Amino acid sequence: MKSLPITIDSVRKAYGSYVALDDVSLDIRAGEFLTLLGPSGSGKTTLLMALAGFVRPDSGKLLLGDRDITRLAPNKREIGIVFQNYALFPHMNVLANVEYPLALRRRRKAEARQRALDALARVKLDGLSERGIGELSGGQRQRVALARAIVFEPRVMLMDEPLSALDKNLRETMQYEIRRLHDDLGITTIYVTHDQREALTMSDRIAVMNSGRIQQIDAPQHIYDRPSTRFVAEFMGEANIIAPGLARRIDGADAPRETLMIRAESLHLDASLAGRDGVALDGTLRAKAFRGENWLLTLALDGGQEILVCIPAALAGGCVELAASQRVTVYAPAQKVHVLPGAMA
Ligand code: ADP
Ligand code: MG
Repeated sequence: MKSLPITIDSVRKAYGSYVALDDVSLDIRAGEFLTLLGPSGSGKTTLLMALAGFVRPDSGKLLLGDRDITRLAPNKREIGIVFQNYALFPHMNVLANVEYPLALRRRRKAEARQRALDALARVKLDGLSERGIGELSGGQRQRVALARAIVFEPRVMLMDEPLSALDKNLRETMQYEIRRLHDDLGITTIYVTHDQREALTMSDRIAVMNSGRIQQIDAPQHIYDRPSTRFVAEFMGEANIIAPGLARRIDGADAPRETLMIRAESLHLDASLAGRDGVALDGTLRAKAFRGENWLLTLALDGGQEILVCIPAALAGGCVELAASQRVTVYAPAQKVHVLPGAMA
């Protein structure tokens, strides 16, 4: 099966005066696993539904390969879709649900059956084909939805928060299995989530959305380590945004004059973990909490700004004795100090 690239070219969609998609442009490579990540209301579902053909853009173009699909009927787009709420037919059994897209495409009965059974085997549901939907767990239902989405060998797969109804352990198993299914089939996939860890775990690239716009598109590690905006920095994890002038260089060189972003886990109590060209932050301990695998410290920097410091339990020898209001200095290596673009002093 040949997978295809997707081009989203200046797509705009407004509901009345509310702009849900604000001239979104995005190129997804053939066979890529790309995640749209953003808070609720940022336009993720609208963008996915535009690709699927259920939302008509006000302007802009959508291409599958070099074919313009902007005005094509949804069932002509060769796109498989998995929703959060399964959208399975409750009155049909598992097999009939998975055969449905093939019946819709008027495939022969015997061929449809064999393909549906193959798809069910791929998602590890062999043996459950005669079950009713009501007899399945949430995880099993989502597997049926996956099988139904891949059964007609689509060129593209769209998934809208498919795991958000599942509990944490099952969600992590399914993340791994969806990624493996993608790698086996090589289908270009756009995955939607508001869960940053899920996005980091699963994706080749992440597009971070906010207010109908894409703020940054990059590989997971780049998005995490080198966010291009304050919004991306704070959405991706515990981000300390340090105002100009609060950090000093460990080697005594001139202090950085930009706004800095330092992740909580990049700060250390032990200066030797930072190196001479790292930075130091001086403050007062406000709070400390033991969280099992780490300690979380809250420091008030001189000037009042609070930062979070995450010390792995294995390196936290000194944390137990730290007392409230004690003076504390924390250190970060130079390569973990990110200058936040566009936020100069
Ligand atoms: P997300 O999936 O990121 O949570 P959506 O794409 O569902 O966001 O929605 C983006 C914005 O567009 C939201 O503010 C939502 O209320 C609005 N919206 C979505 N669909 C409609 C609609 N059919 N009519 C009016 N407003 C809508
Ligand atoms: Mg949504």
